[in-house]
Amino acid sequence: MFGTKESMSQKYLGDLRDVTQYKAGNVEINIAKHSGYCWGVQRAYDQTVATAKTKDGPVYTIGPLIHNPQTINELKNVYGVNSVDGASEVDCGTVIVRTHGIPPEVQDQFRAKGVEVIDATCPYVRVTQNYAALLLKQKYHVVIIGDPKHAEVISILAYAKGEGTVIHSLEDIDKIPQNKRRLGVVVQSTLILEKVNKIVNALLAKAQEVRVFNTICYVTTERQEDAEFIAQTNDHVIVIGGKESSNTKKLAIVAETNGAKAMLIESEKDIDFNKLANARKIGILAGASTPHWLIDKAKDRLVEHFSTREAIIASN
Ligand code: SF4
Repeated sequence: MFGTKESMSQKYLGDLRDVTQYKAGNVEINIAKHSGYCWGVQRAYDQTVATAKTKDGPVYTIGPLIHNPQTINELKNVYGVNSVDGASEVDCGTVIVRTHGIPPEVQDQFRAKGVEVIDATCPYVRVTQNYAALLLKQKYHVVIIGDPKHAEVISILAYAKGEGTVIHSLEDIDKIPQNKRRLGVVVQSTLILEKVNKIVNALLAKAQEVRVFNTICYVTTERQEDAEFIAQTNDHVIVIGGKESSNTKKLAIVAETNGAKAMLIESEKDIDFNKLANARKIGILAGASTPHWLIDKAKDRLVEHFSTREAIIASN
């Protein structure tokens, strides 16, 4: 058994932040308090597994349930749950709506074929979809701040009946039609608040009225605050999560903005120990779609590596 574990609280800029700390040789490994599956992802995963265990007939997810390849493989190989892109691929059984949501008309296409639809859209994303529908009803031009290719943004836009404008950067503001003077704004759940603030300020200069719902999820905020703390209190930072995961990529950006060199890995096999040769304090962050067992495996590999290194040095 390598390494020792301690729970500790650190006083930091007047803010108490918990990390779980392991010691291996002369290296400290600090895992951020808010790491791994958020409750929205855990809920969708549990719903999918329970459905696969109890339903007769095939069970599918519409698009990948979450952005994590290990979880998608587990659902496929252990529970027989495959991902499909559309109703044309399914003739019977049950489909699960992913955490990011999907357009309502896509759900209807499955129902029209007699396929049961179970909605695992995260309730926070559902709120944003409802705000988009409300703003449209109240005659605002809906503006979604987010990545136009991301499944969550596509689903939110569908609730604005496709009539909104998606803004990913300040340059996109010119995409808003000139005659739209009342703007209703919602935000992709995983965005960084600073970036959103800049875009909202620019919108204020463009329109007569701007109504903003800050729909950044609190899970995102907590993890980004942890990323700041971990980046500022460790000499190396490892971010664990799917390369397609928006919230994981944002954690790496926040860590780098705070002076850390972030190593983004999907599993423990991706750890580049050459880059950690001089490490004394390694911080670990993990996205909201990263299973906890992956965090444990990465931590175990780090602890084993640095404990073994220490033992070799001591024996020479
Ligand atoms: S990060 Fe927030 S919005 Fe996304 S699945 Fe988790 S709880 Fe839901």
